[in-house]
Amino acid sequence: MNNNQTIEDAAISGKNLQTLTLHSEKDTQRLAEQLAALPLIGSVWLAGDLGAGKTTLTRYWLQALGHKGAVKSPTYTLVEPYSITQNDGSIKPVYHADLYRLQDPEELSFIGFDEYLDEPNALVIIEWASRADSYLPLPTMFIDMTQSNSNDDKESRQVAIRLSKAGQVQGFDLSSLNL
Ligand code: ADP
Ligand code: MG
Repeated sequence: MNNNQTIEDAAISGKNLQTLTLHSEKDTQRLAEQLAALPLIGSVWLAGDLGAGKTTLTRYWLQALGHKGAVKSPTYTLVEPYSITQNDGSIKPVYHADLYRLQDPEELSFIGFDEYLDEPNALVIIEWASRADSYLPLPTMFIDMTQSNSNDDKESRQVAIRLSKAGQVQGFDLSSLNL
């Protein structure tokens, strides 16, 4: 990244957009913990090439929400459901989807995906939403991850987090996200 890019990123970062450099997987975990602390409902679209770290971020996110067991990549099942018991005893439904292998957006109605999206209080984290973006309702938040192309910086990732109109209405402030 050159200086101009840094200045540009700084200028556009704010309540509705935050860009961060994750220097290591530990930073990814820290970001996941902060995302988990936001009272997010609706969906989050996680974009980025294979290996960018979408599943890794989601795994830390689910753990930070209180999930104790394993987190499988839903590449073949399309969706993995979680019911996470929160501190106040209530259950938070969280769905982790990976639409990479989706052939046709119609498959989503076969598996009842709309019902997950309509569930009050649910959080639906979607990798490869681009496979069905005309079918899906707009998310609350967009997260784009990019892997560094430098060989000696294998754990470094750029991340851009953006609120949709729906997310802005919910009043989140992304400038509070910091590593
Ligand atoms: P995706 O779901 O985007 O295809 P994965 O999360 O499955 O990517 O894979 C990312 C790989 O990169 C994992 O092996 C993870 O351990 C590794 N990795 C290295 N550094 C990071 C980082 N800062 N954030 C996330 N993953 C990282
Ligand atoms: Mg993945």
